Amino acid sequence: MQRHDHSHFLIDLLAIKLLAVEDQVARVRCSDFPSDAPRKLCDLIAQSAKQLRLQLPRIKTEEDDAAKRSQARMCLMFAKEMLASVRFAQRARTENTPWSIVPAFEAYVRGLVHEPHFLVLRPKWTHTYEIIAGFTGRCRGVLRAFLDDEEVESVLKDALLNDGHSPEPLPEICVISFPRLERMNPLSHCLFGHEIGHVLCAPWLARSAGIKERIRADLALKVGAEYHDAPESERVEQFDLAVAVCEQGVSELAADLTCALLFGPATLFAIYEYCALMELDELPTAENSYYPPWRYRLRVIQAFLNQGASSECESELQARFPEAHVAMHEWLQVIADLVADECDRHRLLNPPTDSSNTLRTIAMVYSYVEDHMGAIESLVRENVPAAYCYAGRASAVCTVVDRLDRLIPPNEMRKGDNHAPLSIESILNGAWIFKLWRLNSQTAALRFAQERGLAVRLSNDAAQAGAEAHRVGLAVLNRLVVKAIEASFEHHCYLEAHR
Ligand SMILES: [Zn+2]
Repeated sequence: MQRHDHSHFLIDLLAIKLLAVEDQVARVRCSDFPSDAPRKLCDLIAQSAKQLRLQLPRIKTEEDDAAKRSQARMCLMFAKEMLASVRFAQRARTENTPWSIVPAFEAYVRGLVHEPHFLVLRPKWTHTYEIIAGFTGRCRGVLRAFLDDEEVESVLKDALLNDGHSPEPLPEICVISFPRLERMNPLSHCLFGHEIGHVLCAPWLARSAGIKERIRADLALKVGAEYHDAPESERVEQFDLAVAVCEQGVSELAADLTCALLFGPATLFAIYEYCALMELDELPTAENSYYPPWRYRLRVIQAFLNQGASSECESELQARFPEAHVAMHEWLQVIADLVADECDRHRLLNPPTDSSNTLRTIAMVYSYVEDHMGAIESLVRENVPAAYCYAGRASAVCTVVDRLDRLIPPNEMRKGDNHAPLSIESILNGAWIFKLWRLNSQTAALRFAQERGLAVRLSNDAAQAGAEAHRVGLAVLNRLVVKAIEASFEHHCYLEAHR
């Protein structure tokens, strides 16, 4: 009789768990999704789980006990990770997403990123936008421990390719999370641009031109000089900290700048509104994953947008919608005043003389980042393929403002004798200007609701009536903008198909 053995027990258990993963995925896969991407994620998970399960009998017969345990452990970690990843697809079901604009955003991302990507959009109850990329690469890495390269690529192809897709390179899958409360708030979804910025910036931050190596070499010198009389272990610790703070800082700032290039001034307004709910001046710490302070980020974005500012669009907006023009500038001034107070920057760059080494290192890193901000901006400009020229879209932006004010979804504009679809960027910029003008406060929203006959629940309490009008006005705006993005995308697809 065979003796009981922990490795065998684990492997049998794994077979059951991997079957359970496949079963879960199959059930989620039957759901209704707004695009193909969540189903592709399901297929990738199911295929990977199945391949690992098929390896288990061989692992069980492995003679070397240490190798057997290490392979079983790898399968276990991967099974756990895969099972946790099913939630991304499960939450990307149609009813959880701004489903009607998902295809438009997917197409927008496909136009920006060189390698093919499937984009899964899913809500998150925490109030945060974030991206998790590289699912295909992760599965490839694990499967290669068990199968040869050709077999791995064949498994991935089965999962990811549709008929007619070119197999090279295989698509990556990335998941962008958005705050559940903002599901139907497309103006806030300008922040997808920041997350896409992480995808666009990752290659140059990680590989090309040896930037990562150069940063590490520069920081090694700086840490060496700052802590020359400290013990070696302290220097190593501060160097590791400097690299972590610098890489996260540069990555976040570069993603912000990318968003600013993609969506123009709408980026600034979306980030301003988003970070209004945050602590503005929180220094980078391990707890916040070394994020730069929000006020610092707003300052960097506003300075960057000011470099490309032009009065061309301004004058058309000023002539056609003078009140909207004034409102937009009032809000730009609010943000300018906010960032003019450099308390965050002062705390970052000038730690007290008796402060901890952590604060000294963070100050050193940010002084280095500031010295190289021009280079970061240039790299972002070089690597973002589709900068939005806000200044050149005066007519489109004004069309959006005009239609929204008449409660019409702005999906196209006259171009000569034809009607051309509006771009997602112009819709979002026009929508933001409209919001800053007509729905920037409860008083403004009440006036708008009364003028446009919006159904607002009556209340004797003036504050409650204002809040209700604000809520209704913003909900109407969001629906108009969602409709506009959907319809302009359909129009664009129609033109492409009939060219
Ligand atoms: Zn980020």
